[in-house]
Amino acid sequence: MTLTVLNPATEQPIAELEQAGVEETDEAVARAKEAYPAWRAVAPADRARLLRRLATLVEENAEELARIESQNVGKPISGARGEIGMVAQVFHFYAGAVDKHGGETIPVAGGVAATFREPLGVVGLIVPWNFPANIASWKLGPALACGNTVVLKPAELTPLSALRLRELALEAGFPEGVVNVLVGKGSVVGQRLIEHPHVAKIAFTGSTEVGRLVMQGAAGTIKRVTLELGGKSANVVFEDADLEKAAAAAPYSVFDNAGQDCCARSRVLVQRSVYDRFLELLVDATRGVKVGDPEDESTEMGPLVSAQHRETVASFVEGEPTFRGDVPDRPGFWYPCTLVEATNEDRVAREEVFGPVAAVIPFEDEADAIRVSNDTPYGLSGSIWTRDGARALRVARATDAGVISVNANTSVRVQTPFGGFKQSGFGRELGMHALEGYSEVKSVFISTEG
Ligand code: NAD
Repeated sequence: MTLTVLNPATEQPIAELEQAGVEETDEAVARAKEAYPAWRAVAPADRARLLRRLATLVEENAEELARIESQNVGKPISGARGEIGMVAQVFHFYAGAVDKHGGETIPVAGGVAATFREPLGVVGLIVPWNFPANIASWKLGPALACGNTVVLKPAELTPLSALRLRELALEAGFPEGVVNVLVGKGSVVGQRLIEHPHVAKIAFTGSTEVGRLVMQGAAGTIKRVTLELGGKSANVVFEDADLEKAAAAAPYSVFDNAGQDCCARSRVLVQRSVYDRFLELLVDATRGVKVGDPEDESTEMGPLVSAQHRETVASFVEGEPTFRGDVPDRPGFWYPCTLVEATNEDRVAREEVFGPVAAVIPFEDEADAIRVSNDTPYGLSGSIWTRDGARALRVARATDAGVISVNANTSVRVQTPFGGFKQSGFGRELGMHALEGYSEVKSVFISTEG
């Protein structure tokens, strides 16, 4: 069956692709399995050379990749360029990291014990549609660096950049069978990867709902899994914060990528003593977000990824919101920047909207801020705005989330671990920590007795 890929900003088809089924999935896993022994035997420094070459090819083809990503996801071209820049950085990072990721020697009686990091085998990489190339690279980089072979399954809506990355991997010199990409349905290709006896691990990014299925399916073969799932992060603004700076930054933290961001700070928690003032500043800043044609260099927010997703997002906004922005009068799955005053019990504050809708919620004091911030099943990221350094650290430590920013709202850096607490998943991507998720520790004892 063919798959029609749309541009969400025009609603027009941009590609027709053949979809893989169970048989093609089994063939890809077989190719990856066959390529594995030779690939794991390649010296780490030589694997690094190929990753470095891939990083350079991504840089050389950055504009083309950014345009593919922008047209397929509907994201503004300026943001797409930044994301492709990160893809190259990720490959450079793991090229540099892999031959520095060693084991240890441990003093024991009667000999020497040493630990080694061994690759896992064939790894299934299942990624979502919101940051397709970026999230694929977070998995490809450490998986390949550690000596695994991979089968990457991009999301149905956004497979194009993964296909181009595979071509670049071949051009870089990765041997046939090491990097495989399958376009197909999650319930068919994804499910088969999860259950396949020759797949050693599933690295999954996506919704908490599908994350549960991954965990269940993986139980049959005791597969390793890492899960990067949904979020409902808080942007906590204390009365002693630089309110202008916090308000200017807040729209970026929830409307970037049209809110289709697992790290979106979609709950804006504001201390009651400055609530009215901050809301005024936030409305002004939100009014300034430039929504429009993703190809326009100055656009800050594009459309949502699909008509169906727009319906889901719209279902969260009941009645007249506190603020609703404008959308272009042209085809495209547009949804306006929206601010809703809410309590933490409302649906808009409890469930992941995954669109440009922020719930603004008052709190009383530091203890209340921590309580409300943690009152969610998720625990991915969050921001704290205050001029009190000790408070910033106290609240950061007390927040049940994997990635916290103070007086900033970025979550992702190539060098630092990224991942969730609670139902936002487990395992860490990026930084040196990601290498642990793509290797097993082996302990070897060598007797020194004569
Ligand atoms: P999704 O869970 O619907 O799909 C993710 C991937 O899983 C897709 O490739 C899909 O085809 C596949 N899939 C679907 N059903 C499957 C099944 N039964 N078996 C195996 N695979 C299956 O998520 P989405 O809508 O593509 O992305 C949005 C979600 O991803 C949001 O919840 C968001 O928070 C989350 N996300 C998390 C992170 C993070 O790092 N924590 C990053 C980005 C997105």
